[in-house]
Amino acid sequence: MSKKFVETQKNIRGKALYYDENGCGVVEQGKMKIPVPFLLKDEVADLFVVKQGKYFTSRIDKLIETSNDRVKPKCEYYTSCGGCQLMHMSYDAQLKFKTKYVKGLYKGYKVEDTIGMDDPYAYRNKMISTFKFDKKIKSGFYKLYSHDVVSIKKCLVQDDLADPIMETIRQLANQYKLKVFNEDKKSGFLRHVLIRTGHYSREVLVVLVVADRVFPGKGQFIKALVKRHPEIKTIIQNVNKRQTSVVLGEEEHILYGSGTIKDQLMGLTFNISSKSFYQINPVQTEKLYGLAIEMADLKEKDLVIDTYSGIGTISLIAAKKANKVFGVEINKAAIKNAIKNAKINKISNVQFVEGDAGKIMVQMAKERVPVTTVFMDPPRSGSDEKFLSSIVKLKPKKVIYISCNPATQKRDVDYLLKRGYELERIVPVDMFSHTNHVESVCKLKLKK
Ligand code: SAH
Repeated sequence: MSKKFVETQKNIRGKALYYDENGCGVVEQGKMKIPVPFLLKDEVADLFVVKQGKYFTSRIDKLIETSNDRVKPKCEYYTSCGGCQLMHMSYDAQLKFKTKYVKGLYKGYKVEDTIGMDDPYAYRNKMISTFKFDKKIKSGFYKLYSHDVVSIKKCLVQDDLADPIMETIRQLANQYKLKVFNEDKKSGFLRHVLIRTGHYSREVLVVLVVADRVFPGKGQFIKALVKRHPEIKTIIQNVNKRQTSVVLGEEEHILYGSGTIKDQLMGLTFNISSKSFYQINPVQTEKLYGLAIEMADLKEKDLVIDTYSGIGTISLIAAKKANKVFGVEINKAAIKNAIKNAKINKISNVQFVEGDAGKIMVQMAKERVPVTTVFMDPPRSGSDEKFLSSIVKLKPKKVIYISCNPATQKRDVDYLLKRGYELERIVPVDMFSHTNHVESVCKLKLKK
């Protein structure tokens, strides 16, 4: 065995000096920097530390000195469920942690305070539960970095509509003696349930992710489920036979309703389907989009490109103020939703283009489309050089960059800062309260 992989275990007493990007308190021992989950800055604790190669895993054995920022987590599953990471930190301290993290990336720039929630609970409109069999059928979430399912009856960050539906699904699955899918044996039927809730509409979409097209007792199962929960407007059977941690498979069959639900955002109505991206925190999304639109300061003559546009939310909101908006998105289902959403809202000055945002921007740059404003909202990995170099060619006056990963945002922003743009505002928004995730929106302006 190479020396690098020798495992050492130690008991130490240490003080957390600062947080890492995951919100772990970092204890330093000589040259070693040990991240400790659930330890707050300035707290002293006895720790159990395992060093494996370059990496540490550590846990608190005993807290010796506690911080004023420590609170008792409201959730009984916290620390065994991997969903939340900061529930032991007061909400105010969580927001400060997020601001400081973004400030650390944007050194030398002014970062505004993180915009928080008035009530940081029951905010999530999307829940994915996984089944397990332990004397009877149970469901819950994966432990952090593992495929062990923690049985959960109530998730405090979920919309209140989701848990009672999940409870009924568990009851029915037991009643109809459905078999839980076993990842190792690749046998069984029930894998996951995805529940999406409309924040304003109170409509619910349920996706039953199963390993087979044949659904024993399907008719009665569905009938019983919608009878107990009339808020369920549509049920989809998603077939996923693969050995994968990706929840949804390709094949889908609508078992009940139209396959989509509606919800409202900033006064517009949106159709949401099982696979298309939709922001998970509707209360904060309105603040985030409101801020993005304020930063863009759109005028009647503006020609806007909304890239990574999902189901067209930002595009349609911007279309109300601008002359014309192009929405660019790679996901076919999302584009279909977006086109329908434009119709529902009777908005005609918007056009959705399906494809890779980088490629389409290159094409627009070739055609010298006179774009004035670009919104970009890429996935966690950020954008790419094709895309960014096209911005430099198109020279929009303003670029509004929304990101769920400020580290890749900063990398992309640096590219534009070196090529004629300046940063005017950076604002973190708390879309994922009690977790270590941070959203950030910034405004770039073309230098005169
Ligand atoms: N702006 C939307 C969606 C943001 S999520 C909203 O706020 O709801 C990011 C979106 O980028 C997803 O819909 C994803 O399908 C899309 N996407 C990912 N890679 C892409 C690419 N290379 N080109 C265009 N869209 C992409």
